[in-house]
Amino acid sequence: MTVFEREAKVIMQTYRRVPVEFERGAGSWLYDPDDNAYLDCLTGLAVASLGHAHEAIAEAVSEQIRKLVHVSNLYYTQPQIELAERLVDLSCMDRVFFSNDGATANEAAIKLARRWGQRHRGPECYEVVTLDESFHGRTLATLAATGQPAKQATFEPLPSGFRQVPGGDLGAMLEALGAKTAAVMVETIQGEGGVVPFDASYLQSIRQICDQYGVLLIVDDVQAGIGRTGSWFSWQQLGFEPDIATVAKALANGLPIGACLAKERAAEAFDYGDHATTFGGGPVVARAALAVLHEIERGSILKNVRERSDQLGSGLGRIPGVETVRGRGLLLAAVLDRPIAAAVAERALHYGLLVNAVRPNAVRFAPALNISTEEVDEALDRFGRAFPV
Ligand SMILES: *Cc1c(COP(=O)(O)O)cnc(C)c1O
Repeated sequence: MTVFEREAKVIMQTYRRVPVEFERGAGSWLYDPDDNAYLDCLTGLAVASLGHAHEAIAEAVSEQIRKLVHVSNLYYTQPQIELAERLVDLSCMDRVFFSNDGATANEAAIKLARRWGQRHRGPECYEVVTLDESFHGRTLATLAATGQPAKQATFEPLPSGFRQVPGGDLGAMLEALGAKTAAVMVETIQGEGGVVPFDASYLQSIRQICDQYGVLLIVDDVQAGIGRTGSWFSWQQLGFEPDIATVAKALANGLPIGACLAKERAAEAFDYGDHATTFGGGPVVARAALAVLHEIERGSILKNVRERSDQLGSGLGRIPGVETVRGRGLLLAAVLDRPIAAAVAERALHYGLLVNAVRPNAVRFAPALNISTEEVDEALDRFGRAFPV
């Protein structure tokens, strides 16, 4: 039996997988069992941001895994504290809560916002306003926050206390805010929503509105954070700061970790016992994340993101059939002139290039942040060959 047939028997059928099995990786390349090479321009959805089987991260993890794997958050461990210090330094936030992935980072952010609302604005202040087409996770609360009715419909009733407004519409945002509002939560680029970036001016206006109404601003930087857009955190090039921010995907280059960061005025709302998780910030994932942050700095990776972004973006724009390119840094979508993204992505796979159809007419690129000039040229060449379908 093939692995495809075995999967069909024993795995709950929630994933519509691409029929390819990967056995090993090296940098921007993945290999199937027959040793065919694939240029990975998705990195497990913006996760393996420094490429596969990164030596420095493997070293840090294997050293730590032999020393101490887990003790629980009843006790202190150095890697967790050191990682929090690094994240605080890089983000200008004040405190960190470690979770295990993006959804649980957002759960922490939502719980913190509710706690803050209760304390500062009264027991009826718990609502979180989010945007249409947003994506915040698959747990019940983060699904309720997610502005995609198709994903929500089959799981009603969802937790209450969430309200969606159209992205880019400040009037609708103003109308949604009231005495019940604890926070507004946004992505600076809607990744799952089709790689749709919001203007700096729109995001700055949301910041002003939040200040005016005295509510918190949460940035979900789970996909766009940790260097993906060319700055450590996506808001750092957009002229505003959130009160709470979440990161996850790329933080440990493939090991599961999430973090909710907050300014002191929000973070102080959590008391002993208000929130907890068994695995959050364990020594192994914390060491991996420290290695990631160190490598991004040591390798001048943010500069590479900006340069490769220009190269990839302008190259994609020159391919006939590509109408425009949107996104920031190395989170880009080629918007096609026809709704053939799925077919193009399938042909790209045939030519050994991994990308995905994030919308019927948009193909997402989220390559490794340390991808080389030659590899971007190779990706453009392979993607060009995927046209016409
Ligand atoms: C992926 C993603 C999440 C959910 O992260 P998981 O680790 O899959 O729970 C939340 N928000 C955004 C913006 C994401 O891209």
